[in-house]
Amino acid sequence: MSEPVVSPTTTPEEVLATAQAMLAAGLVEGTAGNLSGRLPGGLVCLTPSSVAYGTMTVADLVIVDLDGAVVSGVRAPTTEKDLHLDVLRAYPELGSVIHTHAVHATMFAVAREPVPAVVEEVVVYLGGDIPCCTYEETGTARLGAVVAAQLADRGAVLLANHGLVTCAATPARALHNAALAERTAQIVWGARAMGATLHTLPAEAIADMAAVYRFVRDNPPG
Ligand SMILES: [Zn+2]
Repeated sequence: MSEPVVSPTTTPEEVLATAQAMLAAGLVEGTAGNLSGRLPGGLVCLTPSSVAYGTMTVADLVIVDLDGAVVSGVRAPTTEKDLHLDVLRAYPELGSVIHTHAVHATMFAVAREPVPAVVEEVVVYLGGDIPCCTYEETGTARLGAVVAAQLADRGAVLLANHGLVTCAATPARALHNAALAERTAQIVWGARAMGATLHTLPAEAIADMAAVYRFVRDNPPG
């Protein structure tokens, strides 16, 4: 029997720094998108609803328990709170979830089409192609459930007609995954615009690299 996973944890300061890096990277604009980080003691730090990233401070962040009860904070938590908590409850090896409306990823989300595994790093860091979950209305418990189900063996999932969700052990890694998913969607879109026939990676290579993804995910930094 394997040892139970010791969940990776972060700090509110890192959640804020990553939220602002997400803005700087062009993955969100205004108040769109949201981010969570697992804290010690079964708590989670969430970005607030309707506060611009550029002026956001640590005092704007909201601390909740894994059931969603607010422990501290003066703001309302993101309206996608349940989505974040569903993922963090389901997967103790994960420590952060990011939701964005990045343009190229959302192009695939409105097409309800997966981003295929055409570059190696997408398999190493995201576990394979980026699937698209069924359409569920924003902020609903149902959306959280379908997203969490898709992230069992992936680091990213498309939300039909909405955007992207990524996950990882730390906020910095979840942000890396969001940027990688967006970049891969842009590559696939561009290659198709060239009129090119896309070639996915060979199945054996995908299996080898997916095993690397699984190992890294199951052994989060302590
Ligand atoms: Zn959204």
